[in-house]
Amino acid sequence: MTKMPEKIIPRGLQLLHDPVLNKGSAFTAVERDALDLHGLLPPHVQTQAEQVERVLGNLARKPTDLERYISLIALEGRNQTLFYRILVDYIEQMMPIIYTPTVGEACQQYGKIFRRPGGLFISAEDRGRVAEVLRNWPDRDVRVIVVTDGERILGLGDQGSNGMGIPIGKLMLYTACAGVHPSQCLPVTIDVGTNNTALLVDPLYFGLHERRLRGPEYDALIDEFVEAATKLFPRVLIQFEDFGNENAFRLLERYQERICTFNDDIQGTAAVALAGLYSALRITGETLRDQRVLLFGAGEAGIGIANLLVLALTEAGLPQNEARARCWFVDSKGLVVRSRNDLSSYKLVFAQDHEPLADTVAIIESVRPSVLIGVSGKPGVFSRAVLEAAARQVARPIVFALSNPTSLVECTAEEAYRWTQGRAIFASGSPFDAVSLFGHRFVPGQGNNAYIFPGVGLGVIACASRLVTDEMFLAAAQTLAQQVSQAELDEGRLYPRLTHIRKVSHAVATAVIRVAFGRGLARMSVPNDLDEYVRLLMYEPEYRSYI
Ligand code: NAD
Repeated sequence: MTKMPEKIIPRGLQLLHDPVLNKGSAFTAVERDALDLHGLLPPHVQTQAEQVERVLGNLARKPTDLERYISLIALEGRNQTLFYRILVDYIEQMMPIIYTPTVGEACQQYGKIFRRPGGLFISAEDRGRVAEVLRNWPDRDVRVIVVTDGERILGLGDQGSNGMGIPIGKLMLYTACAGVHPSQCLPVTIDVGTNNTALLVDPLYFGLHERRLRGPEYDALIDEFVEAATKLFPRVLIQFEDFGNENAFRLLERYQERICTFNDDIQGTAAVALAGLYSALRITGETLRDQRVLLFGAGEAGIGIANLLVLALTEAGLPQNEARARCWFVDSKGLVVRSRNDLSSYKLVFAQDHEPLADTVAIIESVRPSVLIGVSGKPGVFSRAVLEAAARQVARPIVFALSNPTSLVECTAEEAYRWTQGRAIFASGSPFDAVSLFGHRFVPGQGNNAYIFPGVGLGVIACASRLVTDEMFLAAAQTLAQQVSQAELDEGRLYPRLTHIRKVSHAVATAVIRVAFGRGLARMSVPNDLDEYVRLLMYEPEYRSYI
């Protein structure tokens, strides 16, 4: 287990108010004597298991998931160890609360539910003094920063400073899913204003009440942040999260060969989608090169998925042009074809020689896809007509409706199974319950990025890799697909149960480390026993004795 950084143990109330050290009612009688705690706690000493039971009972009595979110965040602010114990042991129940879909609502309500910041804000007004602001963060051994500028929060658009819920939630998953120590995680929101008019006129909005900074001044602020962060925390991994389309691609291109960084919306999503595809192909018995993939949405997620698919196909021996020819895109204007003159450079790469088409059913009948991937943020795009058309093309259509949160999904699990007569192999971005139809029980897969980014991050940190490469995401996708058991596949699951997430993250991390060593990117020598080395790094939320 990662050792908690040595801290001088305070006494009395000061100790109870320190969320990292506090054990609440679990302080033993001897500790209470030694640390001046007598009388400050009720007399009965509880075990951690009893504390867990109490918290779970309280959560169950809350009327909504947003209330559960507020309650969990408050617990993290009082007793970090107990909070992570619950997250680790009840990850299936807790993930939808601390992450999507509830975190989306939490961001939208941030101004109302705010208790304490939980991360670091850097604003456009901090230009010239970003290093000073970063130094205000109390922990010095920061290894992962998740940073957002709040422009494209999940599928909910511009949330400005209220987007802080996202880096906080993602880093909680780093700890819960991959055992990265909480003190090594730093959530950052860069507030460059917002173009969300509702926020701009809201007097209670916490962020800058001005329109978004763009152009060279924006770039200079991000540059200043990256430079200051990598100087103050020399081994840090910077994960860019929920930036708007233009900035996300540009910033990834700008930094990915220079610093240890990745963009989860582009690269993490790509790996989780590709892993789902590998699993689906284990069910159909086909190969990746046999597939025709039609992506609805040519944004960060869509382009990221196609780029990784092309890498996977070229590694499997296909020339690049043939690999690209297997990826078709539909965006808000219809099929992405060469004759269109409104395509950005990253879409142009995938433009096909085909007549322009806008009608989705006509597109499906012409392209004849075996795989439909929805990353459009447009609910209902996979209509009954679309799903029926897809089911006419192949025996087992692979349908991934990945848009988040649930209100934006392209189709529900039930719709996917119903309109393909139960033949669809389905995965979604937000969780869906199992569906009983046609005398069969279907268990939908959840293509949750949490299967990938915590493990990739752990691997990168563990070997102090200089860079994060696309090959690492390919290795992560292949490893994730291998972690799905035959019994899980038989149920229709394309991803392992979330209860196995720490084992999955461990496997992903070791695969990533092997790539880093293979490419000469690791800033350390190969450990004798890699599996054991990674396992020992993973934080376990257990109380320590203070005596
Ligand atoms: P984005 O804004 O970068 O891209 C959205 C794309 O959808 C754009 O290219 C737009 O032209 C296109 N589009 C809009 N209307 C369309 C329509 N009717 N038909 C087809 N395309 C249409 O957003 P993004 O980062 O790519 O994310 C898209 C969605 O995917 C979001 O809802 C996000 O939450 C979700 N997502 C899910 C996961 C996951 O579940 N693992 C991961 C990442 C993103």
